[in-house]
Amino acid sequence: MQAASTVYASRIQRFRLPRVCIPVVGEDPGKILERAESLVRDNSFMEFRLDYLTNPIAGLPKLKHFLDMHPEATVIATCRRALNGGKFKGSGSAQLEVLTKAAATGFQLVDIELQSAEALKPAQLADLKDRVGVILSFHDFKSTKKLDDTFLSMKRYPADFYKVVSTATTLYDNVQMMKFLQAHSTQFEMVALCMGEQGIISRVLGVRAGSIFTFGAATRGEETAPGQVTASELRDTYRIEMVDAATQVYGVVGDPVSHSLSPVMMNTAFRRETVNAVYLALHAKTLKDLLACVHEIPIRGLSVTIPYKHDVVASLSNSDALTRQIGACNTVVRGQDGKLYGFNTDVAGIVVPLEQRITLAGAKVLILGAGGAARAAAFGLKSKNAEVFITNRTAEKGQALARQSKAKYLKRADVAKNSFDVILNATSVGMGNAKQSPLEEKELNTKYLFDLVYVPAETRLIKMARAKNIQVIPGLEMFVQQGARQFEIWTGKPAPIAEMGFVVTKALERMATENGWELPVPKNGTGKSEPQPEPAAKPAAKKEAATTAAGKKKAKIPAAKPAPKAGKKASRR
Ligand code: NAP
Repeated sequence: MQAASTVYASRIQRFRLPRVCIPVVGEDPGKILERAESLVRDNSFMEFRLDYLTNPIAGLPKLKHFLDMHPEATVIATCRRALNGGKFKGSGSAQLEVLTKAAATGFQLVDIELQSAEALKPAQLADLKDRVGVILSFHDFKSTKKLDDTFLSMKRYPADFYKVVSTATTLYDNVQMMKFLQAHSTQFEMVALCMGEQGIISRVLGVRAGSIFTFGAATRGEETAPGQVTASELRDTYRIEMVDAATQVYGVVGDPVSHSLSPVMMNTAFRRETVNAVYLALHAKTLKDLLACVHEIPIRGLSVTIPYKHDVVASLSNSDALTRQIGACNTVVRGQDGKLYGFNTDVAGIVVPLEQRITLAGAKVLILGAGGAARAAAFGLKSKNAEVFITNRTAEKGQALARQSKAKYLKRADVAKNSFDVILNATSVGMGNAKQSPLEEKELNTKYLFDLVYVPAETRLIKMARAKNIQVIPGLEMFVQQGARQFEIWTGKPAPIAEMGFVVTKALERMATENGWELPVPKNGTGKSEPQPEPAAKPAAKKEAATTAAGKKKAKIPAAKPAPKAGKKASRR
């Protein structure tokens, strides 16, 4: 009878378990109950960490009440020993007693570590398995290594699920974990992931590679392991319930990337356009690590951000002419031939919002900065025949960019003496800091101010411009436009730009609230909420058609067929 219930437990888990299990902790059973009650409506799969309780056995009767009241919930009982990274200080036999009693209480699954199983008599483990579904677990809190050796030891013990959790210190560790899962998940019920910030992608890719479920925190701040993302992020942003072996993988790569808004924006676009794809944040500490992963994970496309935009160019099979000219690539696509091709959509991100407002030919544009974004701006605007001026903190870098892009260099002291159609901030001044500005008020002699910084949405520079009745173009517009172009390059579909702008605006509003930054955030990333654009006095020609990244009339885009291999690279940003 007991054996039958285990078979039942195992079968039901395999096919009916949600993809996300939420760990619930509390020092007393009342706290666990309270939290579980508030979560159960939206999360029917939880893990109660009994090892957090001062007296786990004494707490079980209270927890039974929850299990009786919520037959729809599947709950794992875990009483991880301190030796193995948990909080339970008792012996192995005391742990077994807790888990056996948890089974009698009505928990459907219990988690027991490999080290504990090794110390038990085979009959003891068999007895436990007869009573309840058993997850045999192994945790490595430092590294990802010897996964197959570990599993060789694990599979000597019968279990309903084998859970292997390691710690990623490189992006490539995730690849190791994927390979491990792919090798064993057809034969065994596997649950596997890498902890740590670098392991975040394994929480999604693991499920794609055969992990039956993964773990997600109830809310931010309730993480029980490093790198744990929230259950709602896993479900809403990464759509984990629908990730399967056919799901295409895209991502933003950089160092750091944990706060990137690209995942929320691009996953929204994929969902809206019903593309079976997931977009992840890939934290690569070196380009070498990134490239090793890209060759092993079937990545279809990458958004590239600081610090790899320049260096990645040399690793591509080919890139379009503008990317080579700028010397920076923010978009990688894997061709049908498996090779990597590069594009630069930052240019469209800058040019499109400006062309929606003014005619660029002949427009006087001052670019602040000489880094990657400034390079995209300088080459992009020159290609539209704008009259481009550059000023930069490090004059030599600004002068070099002016020379390369055939723009003019302006000394900072001369900025206030001139007036412009557009001043474009391509420095990082103001990023994450609502008090800093790259210019003083007296230097803001312009009709339009385009601040590429978009976190916070309302920078000091933007506030100063508004106070002088200057038309403002927020950096959010660039962010959305460059992302829209990436989406179009990757999928061949028009990007759902309004939805993309909407979710990023919402995310920025949340950030502003969390950081005490000033609102308003513009309503979307499409420029519609800003004051109606007036044509610049000089040049006066009215723009013939608004250009959207949704593709009605597209900005000049990189050639579909990449041009020959990149030649000499432009200088390092
Ligand atoms: P980058 O390559 O690191 O260049 C940074 C630039 O800022 C350099 O010109 C640097 O001058 C200047 N700078 C840094 N600190 C400064 C300071 N305290 N005072 C004066 N100048 C300073 O960065 P990037 O990739 O070009 O990005 C620049 C900005 O654009 C960032 O804020 C980024 O978030 C934003 N951006 C936005 C989007 C978007 O989608 N909205 C896309 C790309 C970039 P030196 O040469 O003297 O060091």
